[in-house]
Amino acid sequence: MSVTDKFIQQIDANKAGLIKRLADAVAIPSVSGDARYRQDVFRMADWLVKELEALGAKTELKPLGKQKLDGKEIDLPPVIFADYGTDPKKKTILVYGHFDVQPALKSDGWNTEPFELVHDEKTDRLYGRGSTDDKGPVLGWINVIEAHKQAGIELPVNLKFCLEGMEESGSEGLDDLIVAEKDKFFAGVDAACISDNYWLGTKKPCLTHGLRGISYFKLSISGPGSDLHSGIFGGIVHEPMTDLFHIMSSLVTPQGEILVPGIKELVDPLTDEERKRYEVMEFGVKDMNEATGSATTISDEKEGILMARMRYPSLSLHGVEGAFYEAGTKTVIPAKVIGKFSVRLVPSMTPDKVAELVIKHVQSEFKKLGSKNTMNIELANAGKPWLADPNHWNYAAAIKATEKVYGVKPDLTREGGSIPVALSFSEVLGKNLLLLPLGRADDGAHSTNEKLDLSNYVEGTKLLGVYLHEIAATA
Ligand SMILES: [Zn+2]
Repeated sequence: MSVTDKFIQQIDANKAGLIKRLADAVAIPSVSGDARYRQDVFRMADWLVKELEALGAKTELKPLGKQKLDGKEIDLPPVIFADYGTDPKKKTILVYGHFDVQPALKSDGWNTEPFELVHDEKTDRLYGRGSTDDKGPVLGWINVIEAHKQAGIELPVNLKFCLEGMEESGSEGLDDLIVAEKDKFFAGVDAACISDNYWLGTKKPCLTHGLRGISYFKLSISGPGSDLHSGIFGGIVHEPMTDLFHIMSSLVTPQGEILVPGIKELVDPLTDEERKRYEVMEFGVKDMNEATGSATTISDEKEGILMARMRYPSLSLHGVEGAFYEAGTKTVIPAKVIGKFSVRLVPSMTPDKVAELVIKHVQSEFKKLGSKNTMNIELANAGKPWLADPNHWNYAAAIKATEKVYGVKPDLTREGGSIPVALSFSEVLGKNLLLLPLGRADDGAHSTNEKLDLSNYVEGTKLLGVYLHEIAATA
């Protein structure tokens, strides 16, 4: 029997143990966004350290200082650094995950207690907060180490863990730590793997090698000293809302085409190799309609929809602050309104260049209006897009591992949203990074009744382990 078969057999033999471990982790309500649960986030870190140490890993808790939350100054949860193996002949893989979770109350609409893992035998799903985001995947790595010990197999790579407790609350303090530890803890890392996203659908595994960035703008128009009545002042003054709607309309067409000059030219051209990836992806118009609860996709073709999400920029109008929004027919002229919109960025767009183009366009559109109001536009926040080379050995190993465990070639996807830590690791360490999701698109990560299918947990654990063996064999 091959080493990987032995490992797989060991995982299958210990399903109950895997479930028990996840149940213990889910039982700790490590909600990072609520000061009342801060002790539990610390407790969760201690629990993980104990698990890792019991298997022979060398761990260290890195304090991150304090933060202000709910009007109090409290300690940030520590980051866990752990080393498992330091053999210079082996590759060293950095694993990132997080042990904090989103808030959850049964009264939010959960069918079961959110902090009690429930194995629904009928659907073979594991329900509980953190089951899929991100405790299941983090424990997947621990399961891998444990199974190797139990089966008497040597781990084929060195593992470095970087586990944080603030991911759901903006990863406060993590970026600085990554920079500070670049040549210390992170020295010697050959490649990195994050398991904290999801399959594109519910049936076919995928590897993710790109994320879009974002530039978020606030556009304010002010005129009158206070809100006015249209019966008295209508037709007399330049109205801020009218100016704002004209400018907002000049940003994007109903077909999603970005009208800001110069943006489209920044987008990298589509290659044949990339086009083929969309053709084989298991995701169609029907899936997207299910996801949006409507039949409102701009494109009626699968490739068009997938490319719109993964490889093209988009511009969305989000809201208007200061506008009248309640029911009724109030005849107010708002004195100041702030329009909010954002651009999702793809390679090779940069937030700086996009801000320059957007601001120039908005200024020129405002000038055309001939309005005596005052316009101001600011870039409220921004993050760069991320793209990794899927032809790297890190991806080759994960592709082979997926074929071995699931019997299919995984889709090579990119995501429409952002995972800031992915960009930080790539930029600071300069190493290839792989996003290797375990869960499915319908897991409900930040929602009520979050779940992880038992098969995704078990097969996903196998996937992580076989991936490490494929690295040793391929790289
Ligand atoms: Zn997560």
